[in-house]
Amino acid sequence: MIRVYKSPNAPRSLSITQAYNGEDVLRQLENDHYKKCYLCERSLCTDFQVEHLKSQKNFPDLKQDWNNLFWSCGYCNEKKGNNFNNLLDPSVVNIEEEIKQVLNFLQKQAVFTSLAETDAHKETCQFLTKIHNGRNGLRTKREENFFEQVMGIVNDFYRLINQYLDNPTEENKALVKENLQISKECLGFKYWIIKNNATLYSIFANDIVWNKQ
Ligand SMILES: [Zn+2]
Repeated sequence: MIRVYKSPNAPRSLSITQAYNGEDVLRQLENDHYKKCYLCERSLCTDFQVEHLKSQKNFPDLKQDWNNLFWSCGYCNEKKGNNFNNLLDPSVVNIEEEIKQVLNFLQKQAVFTSLAETDAHKETCQFLTKIHNGRNGLRTKREENFFEQVMGIVNDFYRLINQYLDNPTEENKALVKENLQISKECLGFKYWIIKNNATLYSIFANDIVWNKQ
């Protein structure tokens, strides 16, 4: 999970209809989020939903509030449900800097460590742990498929990194850089792979800035 950019102007249908998911909202969110779920950062084709950062049930006044609407996958939207109403707002907070995001391939666990002590940081880590690791570390079939997909994406990135470290040509460097572009998936994990390695950080520090355009 990383920071996202939201266009400042709310789509018009939010003020002239009762709906929160008009075509203009869908198009604007898709564009702002580079077609990625704001929670798991997987790219979405058809399984997209408009997600309320603060749930409709608990915050009915925010149902059509543009600042409360995000682009999400069905998996994450369902996991969140009406709970987790105190997540960090990714349009305001640099989540990739405040939550350390690491995949442990041996133990098949995602580990989220907050670098700040607020309830929102804690709740965000809890939610991310839930969607990646399941309940008490046990995954249902659906959770297992989700995690395998995330591992596959991060694993592909490791292959590019290793290819570059083994053979540090400009071409191989460009492949790593391309995989760090804002439209790519699972950047939270990828950014921390770079940050946790001094050599990689010295080369790719400028490529792990969330809003580079
Ligand atoms: Zn998702």
